[in-house]
Amino acid sequence: MTQTVLIANRGEIARRVIRTAKQMGFQTVAVYSDADANMPHVRDADMAVHIGPSPAAESYLLIEKIIDAAKQTGATMIHPGYGFLSENTDFAKACADAGMTFVGAPAAAITAMGLKDAAKDLMTKAGVPVVPGYNGGDQAPGRLKAAAKDIGYPVIIKAVAGGGGKGMRIVHDDASFFELLTACKGEAERAFGNDHVLIEKYINAPRHVEVQVFSDTHGNHVHLFDRDCSIQRRHQKIIEEAPAPGIPDAVREKMYAAAVQAAKAVDYVGAGTIEFIMDAKTFDFYFMEMNTRLQVEHPVTEEITGVDLVEWQLRVAMGEAIPLKQEDITQSGHAVEVRLYAEDAENGFLPSTGRLEQLYLHGAEGIRIESGVEKGREISPFYDPMIAKLIASGPSRARAANALIAALDRSGVEGVKTNRAFLARVLRTQAFGQQALTTAFLEDHAGEIAAPSEAPKSAYHAAAIAACAFDGSGPHDWTDWALLGVLRLNGPQIKTVMLQLACGPASAVAVKRHNKARFEIAGAFYSLGSRGPHRLEINGQVFGYALTSTSAEIRSEGQTYAFARPDGLHGKDTAAKGSGIITSPMPGSVLSIGVREGDHVEAGDGVLVLEAMKMEHKMIAPRAGAVKALRVTAGSQVKDGDVLVEIGDA
Ligand code: ADP
Repeated sequence: MTQTVLIANRGEIARRVIRTAKQMGFQTVAVYSDADANMPHVRDADMAVHIGPSPAAESYLLIEKIIDAAKQTGATMIHPGYGFLSENTDFAKACADAGMTFVGAPAAAITAMGLKDAAKDLMTKAGVPVVPGYNGGDQAPGRLKAAAKDIGYPVIIKAVAGGGGKGMRIVHDDASFFELLTACKGEAERAFGNDHVLIEKYINAPRHVEVQVFSDTHGNHVHLFDRDCSIQRRHQKIIEEAPAPGIPDAVREKMYAAAVQAAKAVDYVGAGTIEFIMDAKTFDFYFMEMNTRLQVEHPVTEEITGVDLVEWQLRVAMGEAIPLKQEDITQSGHAVEVRLYAEDAENGFLPSTGRLEQLYLHGAEGIRIESGVEKGREISPFYDPMIAKLIASGPSRARAANALIAALDRSGVEGVKTNRAFLARVLRTQAFGQQALTTAFLEDHAGEIAAPSEAPKSAYHAAAIAACAFDGSGPHDWTDWALLGVLRLNGPQIKTVMLQLACGPASAVAVKRHNKARFEIAGAFYSLGSRGPHRLEINGQVFGYALTSTSAEIRSEGQTYAFARPDGLHGKDTAAKGSGIITSPMPGSVLSIGVREGDHVEAGDGVLVLEAMKMEHKMIAPRAGAVKALRVTAGSQVKDGDVLVEIGDA
């Protein structure tokens, strides 16, 4: 009898699971909310069931709705993906009660690893090293502060129920302890309904190294080597790779043994990840937490081992043994993954919502693309704003990284801001090449990673010529200027292009075209030589370029200049710059307001905190001045574009 598997998730992970399930001969069922009715994961599946309105709490997180959908479609197995209900014991139990197989960890193991304090206790008993700290039940602020002092500053306060970096606060001294404790507890209560915290020694600039484990119902526990996920923003991973580079073999072996020991200690079944924090110099490592599900970054492990982890999950869930013995699991080559997000990397990584006017992800030999969206669809405020994962694999780390840089350079997204150029700049840093990975990577190399705020004249001119010469609808399309209706003044045609580097002022560049290959800007003449979809030659100099109607990217001599084109599709975005009006970048709710009417603020001062897309966003004053009007109060629900605060002249 054909088995039917329902995927209680959305986006790329739903598609990923559906792909393997189909290859294995399963019938597949997708579920979807209002916002996702037209998403690719719905089409990919053999059947699809609508489960409710767009907010996850009213759809993807509703256990009953999902169980009903499974009953309706005759599903016998439920794969939860990651996030949502993947580590929810009530859900695991509900599946069992309905006679369905939950493709995930046993409820007892999820519970044992669910709270960071209990998990640390358990690991200590199992002989797995943990970060020194306090994880007792006495939550009196004075007791916690005394613990911090004993451990020795700096310490990190974490929500025991935490996840996704939420609530974590680093404390450097006694003086700020209570304030940061209150902040952590508040965020923890709001996010997890549990304000218990633990205190840990803060390890300065550590690495995040994790081990993939797999267990079955026959008592077999294996590992599938390690991954490095040190490059993070807001304590969330953005670049991951396997193997974790530069770790001595003896340390790796110890880490694998500890990871397998951890899995055994909770009678684990299925795919799991043991996360360690590692001292980048001494390679000392400590257990941080176990994720009892498939990870976002599982593809890098698949690429180096050749194992389909989703296939293993489904087999193990059906009661089969793990297909390979430990000694038969091997790795070769190197894989690097980046998470392409709809976010403003130049502006505090603020999620960017909107319609994907264009989406081109450059596939090539050795590049794997996992995406849950497509051109024309919305990046909505309801879910994680990930557009795609790009995974490069190759015989060496450098080869994989270079392939990934090329893929990023050649991909293009229009309609929302993305971290595409940012990711490419991170991969291009010297430190990345030298494997100097720590969780402080982005801060430590901020200067090198920052989008250049000044560009040489040649880059401006190359961008302007490219923008004039190609119309952006396709890389080979040579614009017919006559059709554009451009100004013609006694001979040459003139077109003006607005170009703006991140954070810099926009400048208008007037391009005169004498003929198809001869241009003039500010009295300087340029002849356009050979040109291809990604390269063009101007006065003998070769530039890489990528164009959309809202951006022009120029690469020359190892540097990338990403210009925005404010006169393009989204000109409205920049119109309000310099004004004192702070608008909400997305729907959300106002958590707190840090100013009163009449207060003086400096440009860059925090004004209020908005909670949106499961994150807290500090809204800052765009200019100095006096707070003229507060349009919202703490707790206000706001829509995209609502005016929050007006700042005027003092
Ligand atoms: P969450 O469950 O909220 O994701 P984790 O405990 O997994 O939190 O930690 C997330 C990240 O925070 C780690 O990858 C690391 O960058 C940082 N971190 C956590 N604990 C420590 C610590 N003791 N010292 C330094 N950094 C830490």
